[in-house]
Amino acid sequence: MLSSSHAVEISGLEKRFTRKHDGEVSLAVDNVSFAVPRNSFFTLLGPSGCGKTTTLRCLAGLETADSGEISMNGQPVFSAAARRDIAPEARPIAMVPQSYGIWPHMKVFDNAAFPLRHGRKTYPRAETKKRVLAMLEQVGLSEYADRWSTQLSGGQQQRLALARALLCEPEVLLLDEPLSNLDAKLRSQLRAELRSFQQKFGVTSIYVTHDQGEALAMSDTIVVMNRGRIEQIGSPSEIYDSPASRFVADFIGSANLVPGVVDASGDRAVDAKTAVGVVRCERFTAPPSPPTAGQELSVCIRPENIRVTTEPAEGPNRFAARITTTEYLGDRHEVVAMVGDVSLRAYADAHLSVRPGDEVTVVLDPAWTVALWS
Ligand code: ATP
Repeated sequence: MLSSSHAVEISGLEKRFTRKHDGEVSLAVDNVSFAVPRNSFFTLLGPSGCGKTTTLRCLAGLETADSGEISMNGQPVFSAAARRDIAPEARPIAMVPQSYGIWPHMKVFDNAAFPLRHGRKTYPRAETKKRVLAMLEQVGLSEYADRWSTQLSGGQQQRLALARALLCEPEVLLLDEPLSNLDAKLRSQLRAELRSFQQKFGVTSIYVTHDQGEALAMSDTIVVMNRGRIEQIGSPSEIYDSPASRFVADFIGSANLVPGVVDASGDRAVDAKTAVGVVRCERFTAPPSPPTAGQELSVCIRPENIRVTTEPAEGPNRFAARITTTEYLGDRHEVVAMVGDVSLRAYADAHLSVRPGDEVTVVLDPAWTVALWS
């Protein structure tokens, strides 16, 4: 399975932890496999405790997995079966931890220079100085080189941590929630910066976050994890528009999920019988086995893919509804519409005058309606 287009490959990774107080064993990483394309921004996304940090720490060599294999640049760095476990400092990686790992007793320059003085590859004094100053310039910190690192703001510390990691010239940059200590505004500014640094330096980056907005905005590929397992791997738009499970649909963005059963299925669409009526779903992943009438599923539709209208509407997936709540958001109304007993969240045009109690038609765009098998 090794191929040189991948900077990292993981297969069948498992990591168990034993709780100290009662000896109970938990599976933090459960049969995780993925391949990271070279030069890409690859994100591990999931709720707290889903195993993303443990996966990253196994990649860094800071945690020893119980089973599985890891290779970097086609070279095995870990194999449980072969008892191979290359030390962290011998792996072609650099890590930016959540807390940045900046030393308060050192000046900015010395923090950045550390890997060039003590790391895998060291340089003569003049060359170190040249490289560090050039990197500080790149991340906008050249005027701070002589300051104590404690005098930097949170965003500047984050840039310093990134500069130090990039000075190691890693094949793979591991980033563990590096923006989580910053306020919301700075976070959104720095995520754009981080992404542009990644593209400028062309360094393969593996990024851990529980923030779906961050993952969608920054990534080439997202791995969604839940309880140690992979739920889905795909591009941001694949994950958002064609979620593979209820978990993914619910965790990323906002989704209406309506249970139902298969009414009929073909190559291009699945018709689902639900409490709303028969809903045509033109998006679905390959079912575990050919779907049969009566098989349970969930219909997933995002609010922006439901049209709310007071005019007559044509085509499939039209249902009579009653508005129960409306919220004016300036560019649109966010409404809850009841179709029988089922409530659907939808966005209505800002110019449409809708009030609680109004009778409307909702149209679930079949092209964006997803049949989920789990
Ligand atoms: P977070 O976003 O909160 O950091 P995470 O998705 O990164 O969560 P992990 O830190 O990988 O999750 O933890 C996965 C599971 O393994 C959790 O249930 C956690 O409690 C457990 N775990 C992690 N490290 C240890 C450890 N050293 N000893 C015991 N259990 C651990």
